[in-house]
Amino acid sequence: MNTEQLKNKARACGADLVGIAPVDRFSHLPAEQNPASIFPECKSVIVLARRICRGSLRGVEEGTNFASTYQCFGYTWVEDNFLSQSSYDLSLWVEDQGFEAVPLFGYNESGMPKGVSVAPDKPAPNVIIDPRIAVMAAGLGEVGLGGFIITPEYGTRQRFSFILTDAELDGDDVRQKSLCTDCGACAAACPFGAIHLDKNRTLEVEGAIMQVAEIDIALCRDCPNGAFLASGRGNEPDRIAAACGRECMVRLEESGKLDNKFENTFRKREPWQLDAFKRPMVRDESGGLKLVDVGDTTSTGTGVVSVHATGQVFSK
Ligand code: SF4
Ligand code: SF4
Repeated sequence: MNTEQLKNKARACGADLVGIAPVDRFSHLPAEQNPASIFPECKSVIVLARRICRGSLRGVEEGTNFASTYQCFGYTWVEDNFLSQSSYDLSLWVEDQGFEAVPLFGYNESGMPKGVSVAPDKPAPNVIIDPRIAVMAAGLGEVGLGGFIITPEYGTRQRFSFILTDAELDGDDVRQKSLCTDCGACAAACPFGAIHLDKNRTLEVEGAIMQVAEIDIALCRDCPNGAFLASGRGNEPDRIAAACGRECMVRLEESGKLDNKFENTFRKREPWQLDAFKRPMVRDESGGLKLVDVGDTTSTGTGVVSVHATGQVFSK
């Protein structure tokens, strides 16, 4: 089995993207996030992706269908069915070639339950690989300022899984940041001020450095503007279809840098927004947000009690 054969097989299994990261690109990570903790003989991390079809975001963009469009065809089914099938089929093929293959989901670590270490020298289960680091290490994409994984093919629209293997494969070149322009539009589109552009953390893999804004995921968890959190995925919600993620998607398509092009633009109308009480808001002449309909106030469970017209959030 060589790298080209592996990649051809990955595509035949339905993967839209496939990249290889030699395991030493993860050596700087703590044991809790290191693939070598799961498979000490691992030599290569295969990163697979299946695209999210743009149409699965249409119902959210129009504010008229969240569940049977994006939640299924953009989120849970892509991860748990379509991509999982690709990962498993490829894993079986790798094992047919005489190498072990460990298929893994590409979930975020934040908020995932931790077990008890089985030995003093082992990290507590479950060790979870950060998808942002894995995607960078496999040369598939970058992490934008707004925290989204961005690829040159589909922008923000894909989901990832991993296969650890003891096969030694050729690593792909790590990409420098070239797609995110630090435009800040994702932060401006958030009605709750949850993306803090003034507070960054740095992700670094093989000399590629990504500045990522601090994101208040506690606010995102109850965001009624298209954020989703499916069960078993910790406490970091999926933001691809949220107001911030769709804004980023629109900006990336406008940039003309993405390979997956469309005849018509995604955004047809001014985007809708809800405040923390799920009341519709619109932008006024000055660009601030204001309520268009004052309905019943309902606790969101986050402690957020009101949202100022500028987007500033006041909490209990
Ligand atoms: S909206 Fe702009 S700043 Fe935010 S992640 Fe996308 S390209 Fe980067
Ligand atoms: S998910 Fe909602 S609260 Fe979080 S950054 Fe995006 S728009 Fe803001």
